[in-house]
Amino acid sequence: MKPLTVAMLSIHSSPIGVLGTRDTGGMSVYVCELACQMGRKGHRVDIFTHRRHEDDPEVDCLAPNVRLVSLDIAPGHPLTKVELHACADDTMAAIEAFRHRQACVYDLIHSQYWISGHVGRMARERWQRPHAITFHTLGAVKAATGIGGAEPDRRLTVERKLVLDCQGLLVPCEGEKANLMHYYGADATRIYMVPGGVDLDCFRPMDKARARRRLGIDPHAVLMLSIGRLTPQKGQKRIIDALPHIESDRRPHLMVVGGNGDGDPEQRRLQKLAESAGVQDWVTFCGSVAHRNLPAYYAAADMVVLASHYESFGLVGLEALACGRPVVSTPVGVLAELARMRRPGIITTEGSPAELAAGIAAARDRVPDWPAHTIRQSVQDFSWTQAAEAALVAYQAVIKTDAGGHGLH
Ligand code: UDP
Repeated sequence: MKPLTVAMLSIHSSPIGVLGTRDTGGMSVYVCELACQMGRKGHRVDIFTHRRHEDDPEVDCLAPNVRLVSLDIAPGHPLTKVELHACADDTMAAIEAFRHRQACVYDLIHSQYWISGHVGRMARERWQRPHAITFHTLGAVKAATGIGGAEPDRRLTVERKLVLDCQGLLVPCEGEKANLMHYYGADATRIYMVPGGVDLDCFRPMDKARARRRLGIDPHAVLMLSIGRLTPQKGQKRIIDALPHIESDRRPHLMVVGGNGDGDPEQRRLQKLAESAGVQDWVTFCGSVAHRNLPAYYAAADMVVLASHYESFGLVGLEALACGRPVVSTPVGVLAELARMRRPGIITTEGSPAELAAGIAAARDRVPDWPAHTIRQSVQDFSWTQAAEAALVAYQAVIKTDAGGHGLH
């Protein structure tokens, strides 16, 4: 395959941002891992994001052939997603200025999320290169859950347009393909499957007792773990609501990883909820934890609970399984699909407190049937190398189709 040069747009969220905080999670991991894998194979990837801190360098080399380009869109002002959207013209101008200075010619634009997608459309018009997008989440699906604040109308309009006119829609699992077709009438022939992955070297089974010693966790506690950004869509509230439905002498301890720590309004809301349900002694909030330190948390846990209202994929579920820990999950993202394939280590349950409590009890009973190495087999085919290969196949197909259409190839 001829090496490609890719403009990867990740405007609102940096691939090297603090994972687990408000707008930085799976998308950042996905962008960073895909780009670095492609770079190792000799493809060149420039990832464009907006500069958050004055001391961020304009160009940061993340791996061979991979550059992170920080754009000065509104220097000194951290921008919200909607504000960033309003700055799309300035963003495009900053990308174009960089491209001129560096004399770059891109083969393809790969946008992440609707904010970048909007800029990616402009780049497509200007450069006449194919534009592929990974939405990560879809406004229409979020709105349908009825959880969290209303999605801006602008988002739905932009997503609808992108589905109609971009050259490739990259989705991480079948559920998201179905969502694109159902909510936006997407043309199935332009949808390509590019799953997420897990770093199978980093996320691997580890001795539970050793992990607990390292983290200072009671060796006898029954511990369940929730990892993710603290947002209503992630359903941490559902897990807390489920705790009173488990008899106190069988109730596991819940450790919540993610969020901005004690000052985080969502953490305070969840803490209050636990207090009013009388289960505050069973819940610990840890704030966000560096990705490289998470394997010890997974290893220390008896199970991981994912009670999201919506996941377009759900990297945390893969990481838990790669570490050999069972996952109790609402039927979302890749977890729902792996459960349908009867891969070991997954119990799906609806999100009501009683059903979630029953799922947690069932996982606890089944732990002895599921040795860590058996659970890990569930995700052996989800390495980032495979994900990057799928992305490259999709890129080639998108470029070829566009060349047969009106692209300048
Ligand atoms: N994550 C992390 N530290 C945290 C919380 C989350 O490293 O404190 C990582 C987690 O390991 C996973 C990603 O952030 O790789 C979250 O991805 P996921 O697909 O589960 O959720 P999203 O953020 O995309 O909704």
